[in-house]
Amino acid sequence: MKRSISNDDNRRQKANPAQLQATLNVIPAYTWYAAPSGGLTFVNKRTADYVGLPEDHPLRFGIDIGAQWDAHIALLHPDDHEESRKVWSTCLRTGEAGEVSFRVRDAQGGYRWFLSRAEPLRASDGTLLQWVGVNLDIEELKRAEQALRENERRYREAQLELAHANRVAAMGQLTASIAHEVNQPITAAVTYALAARRFLSAEPPNFREVDDALSLIVKEGNRAGEVIERIRALIKKVPARKDAVAIDDAMLEVIALTRTELVNNSVSVQTQFAEGLPRVQGDRVQLQQVMLNLIVNAIQAMSGIGEGARELQISIDAVPSEGGVRVGVRDTGPGLSPESLSRPFEPFYTTKPEGMGMGLSICRSIIEAHGGRLWAIPCEPQGALFQFTIPAT
Ligand code: ADP
Repeated sequence: MKRSISNDDNRRQKANPAQLQATLNVIPAYTWYAAPSGGLTFVNKRTADYVGLPEDHPLRFGIDIGAQWDAHIALLHPDDHEESRKVWSTCLRTGEAGEVSFRVRDAQGGYRWFLSRAEPLRASDGTLLQWVGVNLDIEELKRAEQALRENERRYREAQLELAHANRVAAMGQLTASIAHEVNQPITAAVTYALAARRFLSAEPPNFREVDDALSLIVKEGNRAGEVIERIRALIKKVPARKDAVAIDDAMLEVIALTRTELVNNSVSVQTQFAEGLPRVQGDRVQLQQVMLNLIVNAIQAMSGIGEGARELQISIDAVPSEGGVRVGVRDTGPGLSPESLSRPFEPFYTTKPEGMGMGLSICRSIIEAHGGRLWAIPCEPQGALFQFTIPAT
């Protein structure tokens, strides 16, 4: 934006520079003038006092000291020199207004952030008369910005911690299932080892059978290792990943982990997975955490009911209208009243003596971070259905 003033204005301004400077000295802003070539020619009192110019310094009186335009860059924080030079030399080259943020050293050697704007003041024939600048003190703004960023980082960290604690707690509730999952291959391996010894001590020893038994032992050992690896992955604290996740496979793994829990609580499971589901984009372990939470919640909800059937229905289908898949976990527990459908998703809302009340709120933030939705629906004649959608890759 180019400012121009008529010759009249020009004359008037020239006629009373003292009055103009007096005005500039009282306005609550940091102002300055620079010659067309860029060297400072005047700084108002506020600016001069801030940087600690002596009371009789010519710049306080608008006397051109003929300094190089970048002589005053020494007043800026060294980290801001380069950017300030770049912006100011562009202004000088193009004759266009410009702005830059920098830290200015005060009389005591401390620094504050300023937003500096320079405008070219032109005569009516377009000649550049001088540069007029205003520096706005944005220190508080910068601090607020910094505090906000710091806060956001702490929030994110707290969320990660909570999600982790919740995951460890959920896994804790599954110790019986986990022990069973790990025990199975170990028991099988021991059985094959005993068989191998029998084949070895036979007359003559049957090496072929021994070899088969050893292969089976290796296979079972690997299976135990895989189970442990899966559990470790679920508990580990790692940054979110963006994988192409086969949601049905991920769900089958979670169901396998909860199998003993289901059996111990006499819960029957039915799965209904559509064919040819698209892969979804996201973090496999986080999505498994959501599934695990929903299944553990369903088991716990049903553990309280007396005689009725305890049925868990897990469905996954494609929803082309939402461009992704929908996962449903339905139980035959006490369900949720229509008025309180959103309460379970509130942080720290729990009706369990040992509950943390964070599970569903974390699940919702995970699903939303994946661009999906998670909600609950009461079922007839009883029970609750928790559903979530996730966009496909
Ligand atoms: P927590 O399991 O620690 O209580 P959640 O956030 O997972 O935390 O669940 C919050 C509350 O939501 C539970 O205490 C329970 O009252 C309710 N809730 C969750 N799942 C179900 C369900 N399947 N059926 C009925 N109520 C449920």
